[in-house]
Amino acid sequence: MATTATTPRLTRSQVEEIVRQVVSERLAAPRGGAPALAVHASARHAHLCREDLDRLFGPGYELTVDRPLYQPGNFAAKETVTLIGPRSRLISNLRILGPLRSRSQIELAFTDAVSLGYDDVPIRLSGDLDGTPGAYVMGPHGVVELKDGVIRAAMHAHMGPDDAAYYGVRHGDLMKLRVGGDAGVTFERVHVRVGADFRLDVHMDTDEANACGLRYAKEIGLFKQGEDR
Ligand SMILES: [Zn+2]
Repeated sequence: MATTATTPRLTRSQVEEIVRQVVSERLAAPRGGAPALAVHASARHAHLCREDLDRLFGPGYELTVDRPLYQPGNFAAKETVTLIGPRSRLISNLRILGPLRSRSQIELAFTDAVSLGYDDVPIRLSGDLDGTPGAYVMGPHGVVELKDGVIRAAMHAHMGPDDAAYYGVRHGDLMKLRVGGDAGVTFERVHVRVGADFRLDVHMDTDEANACGLRYAKEIGLFKQGEDR
């Protein structure tokens, strides 16, 4: 997939949404009682705090649900913003994902970061934002300068307590994700995120999905470290 992030084609984010949906519902064949595993590729997006949403869209503004995401309570909003990077390069139609967070966060793939002119965007878990680069965000009502909050999201597996027990892992552990196919890639650092409401679901970005050919993957497996064969 060509990624010219600075090209302001309106269809681009729409295409990505479609790709995301197609990619998303890939379920690995359960083996011997294994829970069904979903893998989702997240296109670049923004999470916003209340204060920034007010400044970008107007005081008291509420996001409009465009479609629910796989994890309960999360949704893609109809609203988008324009992201302006360090060399005045920009990405338009950056999707906002809800609900609101306590701190604004922009998640980019490496290709997006390069296109925007960032020298380095660190790989971080959601919410771990200290020392990350910032950006300007533009909405219909105003502009916000984020002092930090731009990250590449560390690959992670959401799971409920039963899934964690099945795999023998805990919140904060690392696992491996093997994606079979022509490329045949094993990702070595998949962070385990356990939550009571979580559905078993690995999140990667669009570069990672492209690298492993996720759309065409015939076999996907999640493994505890040291138990991948
Ligand atoms: Zn996630």
